[in-house]
Amino acid sequence: MHKIKVEDREFEIFLENDTISKRIRLLGIQINVDYENKCPLFIGILNGSFLFMADLIKEIKIPCEIAFMRVASYEGASSSGRVKELIGLPDNIEGRDIIIVEDIVDTGLTLTHIVKTIKEKNPSSLKVASLLLKPAALKQEIEELYYVGFEISNEFVVGYGLDYNGLGRNLTDIYRATEA
Ligand code: 5GP
Repeated sequence: MHKIKVEDREFEIFLENDTISKRIRLLGIQINVDYENKCPLFIGILNGSFLFMADLIKEIKIPCEIAFMRVASYEGASSSGRVKELIGLPDNIEGRDIIIVEDIVDTGLTLTHIVKTIKEKNPSSLKVASLLLKPAALKQEIEELYYVGFEISNEFVVGYGLDYNGLGRNLTDIYRATEA
């Protein structure tokens, strides 16, 4: 098993880049069909979503716009449950078809907060594309969570945009922690 170390922690290979690419290609096809004759505004949540956004957007063949915003950064390996302010919310949300692009949904607290804030700006529609979802960790159903790359178990993952203490975002594959 291919193992790596990020800072003090050991990780093993989980999802190879080729597997991720294939899944993103399918998500792109689905979005192209669902948003035919529309011009969605993709809003990526920084920092974690930047690689997912880059690869997803290359699969989008319909007219579209792209923006990024930021929530509080996630420190260490467990969710604090605290959600901080949203920074850089685009000002052209009203009447638009919005697709939020997330790296991973864990408890769902971050996403619930983002969805609520964006809905207050009266978009025409709102859906979420998340590369990863931990269904067992989800605290409440999120109706808008429509495009999911992979459902994973409650493990801490790193790579492909996801960090451990700021490190590992540059890894092309996704790795999981070998111990809790
Ligand atoms: P939630 O609010 O859903 O509990 O947490 C969502 C955020 O926590 C994600 O956007 C991500 O930044 C971070 N997060 C949750 N699980 C993981 C994980 O397994 N690995 C990494 N690197 N970040 C995670």
